[in-house]
Amino acid sequence: MELDEPVNPEQANVMPGGPEDPRPSRWIRVRQLMDNMGIDALLLSHGADLPWLSGYEAMPLERLTMMVLPADGDATLVVPALEAPRVVSDAGLFDIRPWREDEDPVEIVAALLSSGRPMKLAISDRTWADALLALQRRIPSASWSLASRVTGPLRAVKDAQEIETLAAAAEAADRVAACLMGGEISLIGRSEAEVSAEIADRLLSEGHSRVNFAIVASGPNSASPHHEPGRRRIAPGDPVVCDFGGTFPSVSGVGPGYCSDITRTVVTGKPPGQFAEVYEVVRVAQERGVSAACVGTTCEGADRASREVIEEAGYGKAFFHRTGHGIGIEEHEAPYLVAGNQDPLAEGNAFSVEPGVYLDGAFGIRIEDIVVTEAQGPRRLNSADHRLAIVDH
Ligand code: ZN
Ligand code: ZN
Ligand code: ZN
Repeated sequence: MELDEPVNPEQANVMPGGPEDPRPSRWIRVRQLMDNMGIDALLLSHGADLPWLSGYEAMPLERLTMMVLPADGDATLVVPALEAPRVVSDAGLFDIRPWREDEDPVEIVAALLSSGRPMKLAISDRTWADALLALQRRIPSASWSLASRVTGPLRAVKDAQEIETLAAAAEAADRVAACLMGGEISLIGRSEAEVSAEIADRLLSEGHSRVNFAIVASGPNSASPHHEPGRRRIAPGDPVVCDFGGTFPSVSGVGPGYCSDITRTVVTGKPPGQFAEVYEVVRVAQERGVSAACVGTTCEGADRASREVIEEAGYGKAFFHRTGHGIGIEEHEAPYLVAGNQDPLAEGNAFSVEPGVYLDGAFGIRIEDIVVTEAQGPRRLNSADHRLAIVDH
């Protein structure tokens, strides 16, 4: 067989000299699960399911992009004609059906689904509501569910290449965090927005292909977990919560890549009263959350392990968000470390552990690392220091 001859899905993951193509085995697992669940077709639009399976990420346009993936039969990507040149169907997994501006993409999707009997369809969670409602009107006999019922559990278990990419992303974010804590990024006298822009630049120069967010919350603003960096100038003695992440190119070369997400809280000089004590509480809570994240621990159990340190110190009410979220192609995905989630952690799960304490009007503190549950225990992908960094300029 010639090397450039199209290969069938079972053989496509043998690419001489290159990294293994992760897609064919994902298609097989997705179709097995669809079969078990009696789902006739997956309809994938915006969100991470599409790039995870195809390598192609739909731009968040109003125009419809939709992969029609039947449990058996050929899959077709219905895509706006002007986007079609960006689609690379290199693994031979699906056909491409570009639609012109004068065509109705809902009709095209419906025609691909015309089986002559009521169908069970699962549609990606991030599909625009206008597309879903139009499809429901066009195919009234179909029953609908979320594609994440199929893809969620599969995407939550990362393979070796995904973990390798997440680790590389974390190391790149660590290098930026080290600059922050080591004083290479100056803080005093600059606005939060300026520092945020510098962190974003550094994420890119450390190898990220995209910056997803760079929160810089100083002084009393640090008590707002998702503060929007603004014009406030950082003053001596300010706590500064920096939470940033981006997308790092995948080692497999497929898809948009995998995310980093790290938080470190530094202080510019002598911290406000109580700060050092609360910092230590958060540091220990983060440590406990990570240590608890073993195979078989429930998601809520890992949340509890971290949270009880903060509750015992008397700051329970000041920790008002979940302890962590899964991470992958998306910054936030399953599994979520939150009360009520009794799903056990499985080998290959990747997620943040990010407890915080937020004292309104005073200050906030958060420490966040990405962790992977491995058979032998939790593996922290971030290694940036956890000790309180005092930056003097
Ligand atoms: Zn967050
Ligand atoms: Zn974060
Ligand atoms: Zn996070």
